[in-house]
Amino acid sequence: MRTRLICANWKMHLDRASITTYLEKLNDGFVSGDGFEVGLFAPSVYLSQMPGPLGDKVIWGAQNFYPEDKGAFTGEISLPMLKDISCPAVLVGHSERRGVFNESDELIALKMNKALNDGFKVVFCCGEALEIREKGGDAAFVRAQLDSAFAETDPEHLDRLSIAYEPIWAIGTGVTAEPGDAQAMSAEIRCWLKERFGDQIAEKMRILYGGSVKPGNIAEIMSGPDVDGSLVGGDSLDAGSFLEIIRNSL
Ligand code: PEP
Repeated sequence: MRTRLICANWKMHLDRASITTYLEKLNDGFVSGDGFEVGLFAPSVYLSQMPGPLGDKVIWGAQNFYPEDKGAFTGEISLPMLKDISCPAVLVGHSERRGVFNESDELIALKMNKALNDGFKVVFCCGEALEIREKGGDAAFVRAQLDSAFAETDPEHLDRLSIAYEPIWAIGTGVTAEPGDAQAMSAEIRCWLKERFGDQIAEKMRILYGGSVKPGNIAEIMSGPDVDGSLVGGDSLDAGSFLEIIRNSL
């Protein structure tokens, strides 16, 4: 049985005061340890106020980093800097990093392996655009993203990885994938994992769904046997709504 993982991606939202209040509300609202974990991905400048009163009840992490330890990379933050503030987790491959910031598959693979090799927990995001799905190329596209990201990955580190399937057409659009589509792609990803890394790793891997998840649709999405959690953007910005999503995921 895989432990469910429900993650918030706050993107470029919230501020110091609202994060303080959020963490208090979340802490008051849930009890950890009942077969599920919660992750919070905060904007970099607020990472040092994480995880606040929640302590080790949550996994918390950065939405981005650059895969060099130091150097002339103006505006970037490194994994050693994240380690310095005891940050345990990072997101890699989010479609906004790929699309808005032109992160290539090559850079994403570098980030992936560097973060895993350096001991971080990683949520790796993949997913297709609408025109690819409409032409029936979604499974091949996601498989190619996985081939590229994990070509050099040491299987020893994979117990710190989760994979989030986030179809681009469902992110921030209010359009959610049908529960059957979320399940079908999660099963496809698990099948890929079996072929690439074997049954044991595939069975243990948590596969999340992301894309317009809300308190009202999460239960149906999570009913797919291969869907082990979610990565939530817009509806994670309010602690009350995120708590409801957590409760409805269990
Ligand atoms: C995300 O950015 O990872 C995401 C899933 O966003 P939203 O829930 O707003 O669609």
